[in-house]
Amino acid sequence: MTGGQVGSSNDAMPRQPILIGSEIYRGSSYGPRHPLSAQRVPAALDLIRAMGWFDPSRYLDSPQATPVELARFHDPDYIAAVQRAEREGIRDPEIGRRYNIGRNGNPVFPEMFRRPATACGGTLEAVRLLRDGGMVFHPAGGTHHGRPNRASGFCYFNDPVLGMLGLLDAGVAPIYYVDVDAHHGDGVQDAFAGGDRVFTLSIHERGRWPNTGALDDRAGGNARNLPVPPGFSDGELAYLTERVILPIGRALRPAAVVLQCGADGLADDPMSNLTLTNRGLWSLVRALMGLAPRLLVLGGGGYNPWAVGRCWAGVWATLDGLDPAASPTPEALEVLQRLTWNRSQGRNPPARWLTTIADPEAQGPVRDDIRSIADAVLAP
Ligand SMILES: [Zn+2]
Repeated sequence: MTGGQVGSSNDAMPRQPILIGSEIYRGSSYGPRHPLSAQRVPAALDLIRAMGWFDPSRYLDSPQATPVELARFHDPDYIAAVQRAEREGIRDPEIGRRYNIGRNGNPVFPEMFRRPATACGGTLEAVRLLRDGGMVFHPAGGTHHGRPNRASGFCYFNDPVLGMLGLLDAGVAPIYYVDVDAHHGDGVQDAFAGGDRVFTLSIHERGRWPNTGALDDRAGGNARNLPVPPGFSDGELAYLTERVILPIGRALRPAAVVLQCGADGLADDPMSNLTLTNRGLWSLVRALMGLAPRLLVLGGGGYNPWAVGRCWAGVWATLDGLDPAASPTPEALEVLQRLTWNRSQGRNPPARWLTTIADPEAQGPVRDDIRSIADAVLAP
């Protein structure tokens, strides 16, 4: 990895990253049977504190984005519909159909406007902090499926798009958006398709919802897609990082890198057949730290609270120059013991979910399939 590489443009980057969170995520749930009933952001923040990695002077409580701010990307009638549904539910089924709310994994729940608006407010705060350079981690961000006029894939609004529009409005361009969520970053790609100021690259599991992001899909030129097969491993992610992600990034000379660091590609996640470890994602974060004067790391998917909490806590440690593979403190062990997950694996979790932060190393060989994907993506 080349994370230690320092170019002249990086000299202005302040060393110390900033963490953005909110207590709105604690206890908030999309409903008991929804994958997002898992406590994800609270698990990560609690572990960061328990590991002694928390610096109150570098933590910001996320503001809630206003309807005007959301309207930079979303249609005002859709924003109003989500606000109304939070207040009074959905009385007219036609409204639910039109905006894809109250259905298809996008339920009506008590914070259904305030929670996603807070995720967007956090990302907008992050880009304000990044105008002069630096690094920000906002694990509640990364809602990459949100559409201008409807919800999609558990995402009501699209904070990565809003954040990057904020950077562009401040004159920060070009932007390199890298998305390693197990699902294609369709909403972000489509928002910037055909433009020349945001370049999107998505690695996702082949054949999985939303079934977009084919290998030959370049969205008019400024996107690349790497649909990878089941069993995608740390060794293969490292190969694609060196062969594809970093070379494309260096050629682009981005003013900002935005990483959607969804954790649903981890082997321990129930929603994909990818087999990454948290060490693999931390290596990617480290590699991207040298690429531009601004780095924004967002969360994304991730539905096993132990896997996502340990992964994102380690992302913060990585950004802060600490060892994410450190042994858990007694306080961190308590946090891991207290987590719950209403799936069968959650009733009898394996010991390492309760006793470690870092997953065991599992590099794996690089399959020919992955080499072919790299060659196709790099072809003119
Ligand atoms: Zn996902």
